[in-house]
Amino acid sequence: MGIIEKMRLDGKKIFVTGGARGIGKSVAIAFAEAGADIAIVDLDIEEAKKTAKELEENNGIKSIAIQADVTNPIDVDAMIETILEAFGRLDVAFCNAGVCLNVPAEDMTFEQWKKVIDINLTGVFLTAQAAGKVMLKQGGGSIINTASMSAHIVNVPQPQCSYNASKAGVIQLTKSLAVEWASRNVRVNCISPGYIGTELTLNSPSLQPLIKQWNEMAPLHRMGRPEELQSICVYLAGDTSSFTTGSDFVIDGAFTSI
Ligand code: NAD
Repeated sequence: MGIIEKMRLDGKKIFVTGGARGIGKSVAIAFAEAGADIAIVDLDIEEAKKTAKELEENNGIKSIAIQADVTNPIDVDAMIETILEAFGRLDVAFCNAGVCLNVPAEDMTFEQWKKVIDINLTGVFLTAQAAGKVMLKQGGGSIINTASMSAHIVNVPQPQCSYNASKAGVIQLTKSLAVEWASRNVRVNCISPGYIGTELTLNSPSLQPLIKQWNEMAPLHRMGRPEELQSICVYLAGDTSSFTTGSDFVIDGAFTSI
């Protein structure tokens, strides 16, 4: 079997949080094209249903939509139950749901701080933990978390200390889980995207004046596209990445290299 065939995900069962749109949706499309069955997990159930339907129609795989708030342990437990009922097992988790908030540190309220940490860091912990428990019992699996280049640099000029701190936490959480679970065949990696054109960035009024400035600064003079994160995630989900765990993949068009 050639390398491309070996990278396929036929029959794997995968959940994607924040899968209704943006990066999550784009990566879910790639997983489905590679042959996996997908649970689209999102707060926005209507959009999640549309995405799941699209995946089934275009790829002949099975896809379900689940409404869950990744910050709520009860929702996360129910999500796992639904996935096991529908698919019987869980091979890959893409813990990707996240939000961004640009507020100067001195003005940030406790609630604003907590919301970002809860979704971006605690949400990744809860969903990765829930996935890990199933995978440890099964004897293996692959977890992919979404960090950000903001875990590595303080990108300017927008002030976003809670976002940067939450994403730095995701990298260290990823490495901690990878070490705890390596000998039991559960791999944990993360991706650190640079600026990617999604609703999070393109539809955020506060970011509009900054996009032009980022594009001038960026070595490639453009934002990334969600599709440009697909192949790394397919690689991490599949069996050819069996020696890859505890790693963080920066996909940023060299932005953090400036
Ligand atoms: P997006 O806003 O387009 O999509 C995020 C999805 O997550 C939405 O469908 C939303 O409903 C869902 N979501 C939000 N809170 C949730 C919750 N509590 N429970 C369940 N679902 C929830 O965002 P995106 O640009 O696709 O970003 C996806 C991930 O990538 C985030 O973690 C983000 O921080 C990260 N990221 C994005 C960029 C970028 O430039 N777009 C760069 C680096 C990292």
